[in-house]
Amino acid sequence: MHALVKKTPEKGLWIEDVPIPQVGSTDVMIKIMKTSICGTDVHIYNWDKWASETIPTPMVIGHEFVGRIVGFGDHVKGFHVGDLVSGEGHIVCGHCRNCLAGRRHLCINTSGVGVNRSGAFAEYLVIPSTNVWHCDEGIDTDILSCFDPLGNAVHTALSFDLVGEDVLITGAGPIGIMASAVAKKAGARHVVITDINDYRLDLAKKMGVVTVDVTKQTIKQVMDDLGMKEGFDVGLEMSGNALAFNDMLAHMEHGGKIAMLGIQGPDTTIDWNKVVFNGITIKGIYGREMFETWYKMTSMIQSGLDIAPIITHHYHYTDFEKGFDVMNSGKSGKVVLTWED
Ligand code: NAD
Ligand code: ZN
Repeated sequence: MHALVKKTPEKGLWIEDVPIPQVGSTDVMIKIMKTSICGTDVHIYNWDKWASETIPTPMVIGHEFVGRIVGFGDHVKGFHVGDLVSGEGHIVCGHCRNCLAGRRHLCINTSGVGVNRSGAFAEYLVIPSTNVWHCDEGIDTDILSCFDPLGNAVHTALSFDLVGEDVLITGAGPIGIMASAVAKKAGARHVVITDINDYRLDLAKKMGVVTVDVTKQTIKQVMDDLGMKEGFDVGLEMSGNALAFNDMLAHMEHGGKIAMLGIQGPDTTIDWNKVVFNGITIKGIYGREMFETWYKMTSMIQSGLDIAPIITHHYHYTDFEKGFDVMNSGKSGKVVLTWED
């Protein structure tokens, strides 16, 4: 089968002919229809420090996908050939304390599809049936190919009660913009999103949220415009940028709550006294809850959540380099690769 492979430890990706993965007794085999490119894939493509320390080569990369089941092992129940599915890219152990308690997103032995094991940028993907999510046939397959990052947005945004609350999102990347739409849908009052990139802020405007270019305007000015006297009740950190995180911390209501998805650099420092004296709660978010997040994102889309404007580019997988180039340019939302002719 064709796959996008990090063949050797250097920048780039290669279309290779690789063997179709073997299906174990509890596995499902999926014929991939569409995949979307994650920031993680861009790190692997660019072969930055994190990627070079993390990814063994050769490796079929990719973990955001939708496809149809073409086969499964003898011990698999509840799946049929032809089912439309996506899947959770965090493969968990099933026997650690958190797995046994049903908190599988907190497994201490998580391994990542397309990071630690063969991924979804391929004609076929094999994963355990416990990682497979049945999709609603009524939802567009472009949207379904983005369920993994939408799940990051939903998991983060729904970590705290948003009803009637003022929400600050730092970072209008694809996940930040999706989270802004989720926050609106969940009943937040003001949803404010910051970035430094015009293209992304314009995309965020399509979600009907308040945008702030922090190179031109302060968060305080926007609060004044909105008539907000105190601070934000909930913060969703989705930039991975230390300045953005500190700016958020400075504009939180006392007792405010911050959910952190963005991956901060090793040297990030914050004013801890703001956390202590202002009674701030900070919660780290990793991945998606299996499968409560998947249930919530499905039902929110079924009830009108529209993330289609965030998907800005489509390419055939043989044109993958165009997709990575546009992701690297910063002038994109989600980029979808199709694996069908
Ligand atoms: P992205 O890199 O596309 O978006 C980040 C955005 O932050 C960019 O648009 C960038 O311009 C903006 N930004 C940079 N500096 C800023 C500043 N000073 N103020 C405001 N905005 C600023 O990333 P994404 O794919 O949308 O993901 C969001 C974050 O979540 C990333 O840090 C990513 O690594 C992380 N992530 C974490 C998990 C997890 O499980 N914890 C999963 C997926 C992604
Ligand atoms: Zn586990």
